[in-house]
Amino acid sequence: MSTALIESQEHRDLRTAVAALGRRYGHDYMAAAVRDGKHTDELWREAGKLGYLGVNLPEEYGGGGGGIAELSIVLEELGTAGCPLLMMVVSPAICATVIARFGTGAQKHRWLPGLAAGTLKMAFGITEPEAGSNSHRITTTARRNGTDWILTGRKVFISGVDAADATLIVGRTEDARTGKLKPCLFIVDRDAPGFTYHRIPMELAAPEKQFELVIDDVRLPADALVGDEDAGLLQLFAGLNPERIMTAAFATGMARFALTRAVDYARTRQVWQGPIGSHQAVAHPLAQSHIEVELARLMTQKAAHLYDAGDDAAAGEAANMAKYAAAEAAVRAVDHAVHTLGGNGLTTEYGLASLITAARVARIAPVSREMILNYVSHQTLGLPKSY
Ligand SMILES: Cc1cc2nc3c(=O)[nH]c(=O)nc-3n(C[C@H](O)[C@H](O)[C@H](O)COP(=O)(O)OP(=O)(O)OC[C@H]3O[C@@H](n4cnc5c(N)ncnc54)[C@H](O)[C@@H]3O)c2cc1C
Repeated sequence: MSTALIESQEHRDLRTAVAALGRRYGHDYMAAAVRDGKHTDELWREAGKLGYLGVNLPEEYGGGGGGIAELSIVLEELGTAGCPLLMMVVSPAICATVIARFGTGAQKHRWLPGLAAGTLKMAFGITEPEAGSNSHRITTTARRNGTDWILTGRKVFISGVDAADATLIVGRTEDARTGKLKPCLFIVDRDAPGFTYHRIPMELAAPEKQFELVIDDVRLPADALVGDEDAGLLQLFAGLNPERIMTAAFATGMARFALTRAVDYARTRQVWQGPIGSHQAVAHPLAQSHIEVELARLMTQKAAHLYDAGDDAAAGEAANMAKYAAAEAAVRAVDHAVHTLGGNGLTTEYGLASLITAARVARIAPVSREMILNYVSHQTLGLPKSY
């Protein structure tokens, strides 16, 4: 009998261990970081030391030799404990994956041990103000200057740039033969002259902030280019599929956190004879959400396994579906959880109200609900495009 749908003992042990770490920090730690305008350095450092941030990276660079399946377990369990590390979606999942798969030997040595240990952090910048969801329209461009590159452009909503040692920037270079612009990935140090960032005020209670980047004729050495100039798209997707899987894990973790709080409350809160959870109007939405979250988790595991097995095409479809399912499940779970607590759903003490906006992030980023429905309409169902 195949047991592919049942999590291995190794994965369950990883969940248990990460959950224990998460409980030591929890939602209160996160809320205090937000209130005091701090980063979550202590948790990031400890997770790094325990090998959780590099669990997906090759052992020869200090990683755990696992894959996105393991990394997504780490993020989901931290989220379930109320202390998700958003930068895990970016630093080890996108940036380190791309460098591990396509970077030069020198880039791997420079970045992977630190990214695995959590002593280095990398942000990821693809979104541009004019291009938005249509990343084919990005205009950040690199031109050659001797052996160097000169990079110019603008990015928006880039998470964690202030806390990152560098940002992996998606730009374009001109094809010498056709003159067409093709996507390329560049590592840009935070302190590179001409690279400036400004915080975008967001209505999000998260320690990680979003930034607008101005990249003004930034001079980059030849080895800032990751991988092959002619295989940028392939390399980009190698990073974007883990990003979607990790966003799904981020969403299901948040949903589980919210549902656990709501179920505890529904079990004990009594305003008539029995606890409010005995009313089906309270219990059924929570049960429905639990089912939706479990289904989303299953799809997330499938996507991670396909990715780790090297099937990029199948992983792309599954990762999109997982991200969609998880985001929708999280938005509904948070809504039901807040409602279950009545007035307490909106208090600071119970820590659920801020999740209303946080859950929406997973519906918008890194790719919106509508763009996933477009993808499934066109790629999976073969329906014609309207745009
Ligand atoms: C908290 C947060 C963190 C982020 N972090 C990062 C980061 O670290 N790095 C990074 O590069 N980006 C980041 N982003 C950006 C994010 O990926 C984008 O916001 C997202 O891709 C949507 O782009 P947009 O905001 O320009 O929306 P738009 O593209 O302007 O879309 C607006 C609306 O129109 C809809 N729409 C657009 N085109 C179509 C269509 N053809 N059919 C149907 N509907 C359509 C969209 O679904 C959406 O609802 C972050 C965003 C947020 C909110």
